[in-house]
Parts: sequence; structure tokens; C-alpha cells
Amino acid sequence: MRIDVVSIFPEYLSALDLSLIGKARQQGLLELTVTDLREFTTDRHRTVDDTPYGGGAGMVMKPEPWAAALDAVRERGPAPAADPGVAGERPVLVVPSPAGAVFTQATARELALREHLVFACGRYEGIDERVVDWSREHFEVRPMSLGDYVLNGGEVAVLAMVEAIGRLVPGVVGNPESLVEESHADGLLEYPVYTKPALWRDRPVPEVLLSGHHGRIARWRRDRQLQRTAARRPDLVASLDPAGLDRADRAVLAEAGWIVSGARVVRAGDDAPGEPVA
Ligand code: SAM
Repeated sequence: MRIDVVSIFPEYLSALDLSLIGKARQQGLLELTVTDLREFTTDRHRTVDDTPYGGGAGMVMKPEPWAAALDAVRERGPAPAADPGVAGERPVLVVPSPAGAVFTQATARELALREHLVFACGRYEGIDERVVDWSREHFEVRPMSLGDYVLNGGEVAVLAMVEAIGRLVPGVVGNPESLVEESHADGLLEYPVYTKPALWRDRPVPEVLLSGHHGRIARWRRDRQLQRTAARRPDLVASLDPAGLDRADRAVLAEAGWIVSGARVVRAGDDAPGEPVA
């Protein structure tokens, strides 16, 4: 996979030299280039922003350096597939923005399959909207938000997205099993985890985990996943597909106040009549 990041603060992205992503780059699993947007300015002051049309506070990133930078990145990227109908031949342009769709594990999974990702880090009040419109001629454009809050720039969002995507590229995480049982892999949060010592500050590790009984351990973990998700992320419980819930799952959810009603999981009392849970 090839990843390009364009930013006025290339040094911000140096964290991508470290840890698993850094190693993956050294091993050639990920090819990642950070480009300084200011290299594509033409004036003495290397200006990348100007005042907004229509007035208002703040500055807006100018279109000219962005178009020149994106052209350069596109030209350096993998050659497009001969057949323009082949899915995935267009590079994906991710535009971090609090006004974008929320980036999720499903987005990471989808983008991890693509050949060339380009990230355009905005600053100030963002990038002139015409850049986004024009880019659609050459890229699959994805405005993406890290969450419902406002950062100073796109760099922090890109660090998070590249890490989430990069660790799904085959070979980046040593043991692929560890990707299977993680939070959000199956719509639930992960179960709590423990390591040695078995007794620490009067707190024992849950006994079942010492039992060696794989079936009981799996059930205990599944129960904790359901309980934890119900307590912390009711929005995720409401998105569960009842077809994936066995009787034991439904019993745990019922204790937490959720029932299966038709093709949905709902809070008990919200949508009568619910199916019996057990
Ligand atoms: N005026 C913009 C708005 O209200 O939508 C916010 C601009 S913000 C100060 C500057 C840049 O930070 C954005 O262009 C974007 O690149 C980045 N950014 C801020 N919050 C973000 C978020 N939640 N997710 C992704 N990127 C974000």
C-alpha cells in the first residue's frame, strides 16, 4: 500500500516513523511519503492561506498549492489500472474534517484494501471547497472526521487514521489473531484483559481465566463484551444484528435491559412486544 500525506507541518507526521507503522515502512509493507504543501507555493512568503470570501473569522487554505501538491502526489503514485472500470484503481483522497463522515473500524477495514491513499491535512478554517470538488475528477474523495470535536489541524486525525488502517494491512501486526478479537471487530467492545501476577494488590484475576477451559473462557469473554458494550456504548448494542446473538447472549443483554424485538435490539420497554430472550 502507498500512503501520501500532504501537510504544512510535515514534522508532525514523524510519529509514523515509530513502532509498528515505522517497522512496516522499513519492511516495505507500507510506502509512506509526507509532502510539505509549502513546496507548491509560488510567492516569496510561501503563502498557503487567504481571507474567506463572504467575510468571517479565520483564514482559508488557497486552492493553487493544494492542486499542485495533489497533482504531484498523483503522478508519483501507482499507475492507474488499464481498465478504468476496475474498482480501486483510483487513489482515495481522505480529507480530514469535523464536517466529514465519522471514521470507524469499518472505514479502516475498507481503506486497508486500497492501493493508494492520500491524506490532505487542512489547517485554519479548512481548504477552499473547490479543491474537494476538483479532486473528484482524479480521486475517490472521502471527507472524514475523527469524531464530533474540532482539532487545530488534520495531522492528528491522519496519525490516528493511518495507524488504524496500517495495522490492518497484512503483515503489519505480527499475529493476525489479535486483530480478530478486538473492540469493534464484531460490533462489540473488547472484553477486559489480564496478565501476571494472578494476584495483585489483593485483586485476583477472574478464576475462569486460570481454568484452561476454552469453552468457559470464551463464554465469559463474550458475556463481558456484551455487558461492557451495553454499559458504555448503547448505540452499538442498538446496531447489533439479532441473527448473531445466541440464547446466552440474549440473556446477558436482557439483564442489561435490552431485548430482541423483530429484527432489532431495543431497550426493554421501548418497543413492545419483544421476543422472549431465553
Ligand atoms: N472550520 C472547520 C469546521 O468548523 O468544520 C474546522 C477547521 S479546523 C480548525 C482545521 C482543520 O483541522 C480541518 O480542516 C481538518 O483538517 C482538521 N480537523 C479538525 N477537527 C477535525 C476532526 N474532528 N476530524 C478530522 N479533522 C479535523
